[in-house]
Amino acid sequence: MGSREKSLPDSRLFKRYDRLIRTPSVTGNEKAAAEYVAGELEGMGLPVEWHWAEEGKWPSVKATLKGSDPSAESLLLIGHLDTVAVTEGWRTDPFTPVVDGDRVYALGSSDMKGGIAAILEAVNRFIEKNDGRPKNRGSLHVAFSADEEGLSRGTYNLLREGLSADMAIMAECRFSNIAIGFRGRYSMTADVRGVAAHASRYPEVGRNAIIDAAKLAAAIEELPTAQHPEAGRGTWCIRHIEGGIKTTLSVPDKCSVFIDRYVVPGESPKSCMAQVTEAAKSLGIEERVTVALTKRDTPFMESFVIKRDHPLLLSVTRHFREVTGNDPSLEIDRSVCDSNYLVVLGGIPTVTFGPSGEGFHGPNEFGSIKEVEQAAEIYERVIRDIIC
Ligand SMILES: [Zn+2]
Repeated sequence: MGSREKSLPDSRLFKRYDRLIRTPSVTGNEKAAAEYVAGELEGMGLPVEWHWAEEGKWPSVKATLKGSDPSAESLLLIGHLDTVAVTEGWRTDPFTPVVDGDRVYALGSSDMKGGIAAILEAVNRFIEKNDGRPKNRGSLHVAFSADEEGLSRGTYNLLREGLSADMAIMAECRFSNIAIGFRGRYSMTADVRGVAAHASRYPEVGRNAIIDAAKLAAAIEELPTAQHPEAGRGTWCIRHIEGGIKTTLSVPDKCSVFIDRYVVPGESPKSCMAQVTEAAKSLGIEERVTVALTKRDTPFMESFVIKRDHPLLLSVTRHFREVTGNDPSLEIDRSVCDSNYLVVLGGIPTVTFGPSGEGFHGPNEFGSIKEVEQAAEIYERVIRDIIC
């Protein structure tokens, strides 16, 4: 390559990428981005269904290119429309792509507007190359969801409203490190009760809830977690602690500990809560502690690992090799994403693979022009492989 590029390539793929970046879609405000992708799908001749997680909120869109053989296997390409909010520290406008060589700086440039543009391009090429009458035996489903960075209301709602497929590619920003599994995650609170009294008479009277909660927090992080041959270990993280009385001379009678728990297959909300109760018992404070799962609008995400010889995974890795000349690594992601719902709730084996970059969820996130191009090419080849 000669001089460092300063603008996006002049192609349909990057016009869409550019347009998606310039359409802000911070979680909760996905409508404009959803309208844009719906218009692009309709432009390809695909009828679009809208699915709102709540009335007027969190829109997801879905389209299907029907196959000729109802018994043939179907493929879903899916991505999320939303981005995290703008954080401190951006050196450029987060909603204007700034190109520097292969890098494109913008919010969502990596997570995951490149993935969405690549899906649209792959589907578009697949339809075009067949004069608008593609000869696919299996159906091709395309879905773009809302609220992935929130509570995954979009994908959860799509599944509740009938989204199904025999297999899926989630176009999250994992490129040469394809994810074949994810850990799961629960969150809990442990409410610790003390005994209020005048602070001047403490410690003879009163019981300090903060001290018990602090001991409990330290004990929780020492609790064992399960080990899975592929997914690795679960982990504990105390994320927040709140309690005490600042304004009067009183011994604190309440303190609440917020617990984050990443899990691997074999761990359950019940087993994790029992562990916290056990920790309280070991401190002799179980009667002062109430453990509860955090309330949320969507289910907690459970861990999964797909089979290493799944035909979709074999197809993706083969075309990855052919297109990039490199071998991808297969990894278990330590966090969670909409793939957890697709696999665990939807029963859809999902390969998580899409153009990446760096710095997502922080300032100065950047995507990769080359990876967006290569992902579109790989998706198109995989479509042909799986549904034709
Ligand atoms: Zn993402």
